[in-house]
Amino acid sequence: MYKLKTITIIMLTFFLLPLIPGMSEFSAEAASNDNYIKIGLKYGNNSVQSCTLSSEEGFQLGTAKNRGFEEGMPLPAYEKIIITNDKGAIVIKDEDGVLLSADIGSKGCIMPANDENEGIIYYEGTPYRGGIMLIPNSNGSIIVINYLMMEHYIYGVLNSEMGYTNPKEALKAQAVTARSYAELNLGKHSEAGFDLCPTTCCQVYRGYSGEYPSIIKAVDETRGEMIYHDGEPISAFYYKNSGGYTQNVEDVWSISRAYLRAVEDKYSPTYPWSVTLSYDTIQANLEAAGFNPGTVESVAINNRNMTGAVMELKITGSDETVYLKKDKIRSTLGPTVIKSLIFELTDSGPDGAASNWTISNGSSALKPDSGVFIISGNGVVKKMESNELHAYNGIESIRLGKDTATDIEAGRSQTVSFAGYGYGHGVGMAQDSAIEMAKQGFTYDEILEYFYTDIEIK
Ligand SMILES: [Zn+2]
Repeated sequence: MYKLKTITIIMLTFFLLPLIPGMSEFSAEAASNDNYIKIGLKYGNNSVQSCTLSSEEGFQLGTAKNRGFEEGMPLPAYEKIIITNDKGAIVIKDEDGVLLSADIGSKGCIMPANDENEGIIYYEGTPYRGGIMLIPNSNGSIIVINYLMMEHYIYGVLNSEMGYTNPKEALKAQAVTARSYAELNLGKHSEAGFDLCPTTCCQVYRGYSGEYPSIIKAVDETRGEMIYHDGEPISAFYYKNSGGYTQNVEDVWSISRAYLRAVEDKYSPTYPWSVTLSYDTIQANLEAAGFNPGTVESVAINNRNMTGAVMELKITGSDETVYLKKDKIRSTLGPTVIKSLIFELTDSGPDGAASNWTISNGSSALKPDSGVFIISGNGVVKKMESNELHAYNGIESIRLGKDTATDIEAGRSQTVSFAGYGYGHGVGMAQDSAIEMAKQGFTYDEILEYFYTDIEIK
């Protein structure tokens, strides 16, 4: 069903617009909704030595030009072709090794022959809309690129960014943000020969295999729509859960945008998280980020903004005090570990974690102090000599002997516990809330206008 609908739209675009006199500018703009985009499939260390393309209807060679496709030689009789890199030339042969093209050129593109933008081409058995471009590397390998229309790219992205079973208006909001992101980030990987990669670095893209009817409907119903502020496309950042407040972009990164303002998120489902990190782990993370704190001695929150997000974390070390600001807190300690900037922390303390240690005789806890003394029932104080007392901090137990202080020092396990709400950087649309709003009957443009300030959707 959805395929028929897309065909209808394409036919309308192709056949109706040229008939309207004086509308060339409009038709150019409408056609821009079909603008092609280059998605890297195999590149860098994953570049290939050779590859196989297949299409039930045969192939159509052509050229990628101005975000469109110019037809060249048809190859309708072949269902399978083999691609190799011969000294910098991309060579096409059939299954029997017969040469079909000695060099398709760096702008060459192989489409399925039935492509009225509805054909499917298989790269090593994986189906894609649009065509495949191949760029020779000087080391003899090949960069593989999927060249397809923006709308078809969004078909293959949306389910990975927000699952297809979610309510339609939330999917539509996500389609508009994904499209805005892609259009604004064209050429992000231009040094490698394509626009966007198919991973979380850009947006996760799974090709035709990632499409679902609900996804296609959401994309079609927002066809070509993007978010604008002051007439310019916006950076439509999004993330999973706000923790109750979204963030001013300048409170997260060192940029400022009038449309990325903090809003109280009344629709946020509660998303609590907690994690305990040892001082050693924190020290290792800081060192990996280029700091030299020495032995970590304490961790403290220095500053919050009005939403409760932590703006500065102070980590005192034996050699250096490190101040992690804003998103550097998450990027340094791990964005999946410190899930959001809205958190409280409990530091086990600088003196051998004394406040968290429990001194026990095996059955009942005793209160620790600097040195452990036993007070008898009639008030006689005696310094502890027994070997049968143990200290326990919830993770490990150490025996308290004559050299109690040394034992605690050697066996200490200093930790910082973080407990917070939300997941993600907090800038722009919270996906969990978009889903909740859609369930409550809000439309996709109302959802977008809630999270992005002073915007226009068109
Ligand atoms: Zn990328």
